[in-house]
Amino acid sequence: MKEPIEQIAEWIVTSMRVVVFTGAGLSTESGIPDFRSPGGVWDRYHPEDFYFQNFLASESSREKYWQMATEMFEPIKKARPNPAHLAIAEMEKMKRLDCVITQNIDGLHLKAGNSNDKILELHGTAMFVSCLNCHKRYDRDTIQERIKRGEKAPRCDDCRGPLKPATISFGQSMPEAETQEAYHRSSLSDLFIVIGSSLVVQPAASMPLVAKRNGARLVIINRDPTPYDDMAEIVLHGQAGPTMAGILEMVKMKLGRGNPAIP
Ligand SMILES: [Zn+2]
Repeated sequence: MKEPIEQIAEWIVTSMRVVVFTGAGLSTESGIPDFRSPGGVWDRYHPEDFYFQNFLASESSREKYWQMATEMFEPIKKARPNPAHLAIAEMEKMKRLDCVITQNIDGLHLKAGNSNDKILELHGTAMFVSCLNCHKRYDRDTIQERIKRGEKAPRCDDCRGPLKPATISFGQSMPEAETQEAYHRSSLSDLFIVIGSSLVVQPAASMPLVAKRNGARLVIINRDPTPYDDMAEIVLHGQAGPTMAGILEMVKMKLGRGNPAIP
């Protein structure tokens, strides 16, 4: 029996469609606080102010939302990709990645060097803002500048519709296209690697199941146990960064030794 890290590396080299699925554990390793933990932002706000219906319904909800969103954006803006993000970006460069499906909204896969069309953001992204009326997109920084200058609930330049970060709020439906595509890619994958997700938030958490039912090997790298650990070929309970860095080194060694042609 090979060491788990070597076995995972070998599967990455020999599989045809490697899908990586990432969650909050990856963000916390880049210094982004878990907003739902005690003492977090949520303690200072009322969750009901952030339901999508309320955002649509009242200007005062929108103002409170933007106040909280501005506070939450500070650590996201400052965060840098960690070794796990960088390893996933390297996998794309080596043509060993079908796509990365993420529950994170921090844009770190893009910052790490993955291309836009390889990233499926199930919960949207905090790096952009969109108009709820005409869907015009803005850079987040541009809108944060306007807030700094005194706007409380910014509106669209074109149609005056309310602007909202392009993340999925409570009560807001999941992005249809991304979700469908993520299920599709999961079902076609032959190696499905979960990194830094406890696999409890639905519907995202059912994707490893879809992959597994269609014959994929399942690998889980997460600090804590997940409901799917029993189903996985390999489970590693540890930090994503060092684990992925180790796996990447092995992948490079194996590819360097002239393994079969990469599609
Ligand atoms: Zn608009």
